[in-house]
Amino acid sequence: MAYVITDECISCGACEAECPVSAISEGDGKYVIDADTCTECGACAGVCPVGAPVQG
Ligand code: SF4
Ligand code: SF4
Repeated sequence: MAYVITDECISCGACEAECPVSAISEGDGKYVIDADTCTECGACAGVCPVGAPVQG
């Protein structure tokens, strides 16, 4: 399952730059992950200051 970003996201943008496949983009009130593109590498979870990306 792809990673998903929970409502804990504070829209800092750190994860977007870290994703090797550019699956993350700014959404409405939080960042979002394109499930079809995500390779489940976990890099976004590693850089997020609030632990918002979780494995879906
Ligand atoms: Fe991108 Fe990896 Fe996060 Fe998926 S788990 S959104 S591929 S950084
Ligand atoms: Fe949101 Fe975390 Fe990504 Fe920052 S790093 S945009 S808080 S999910």
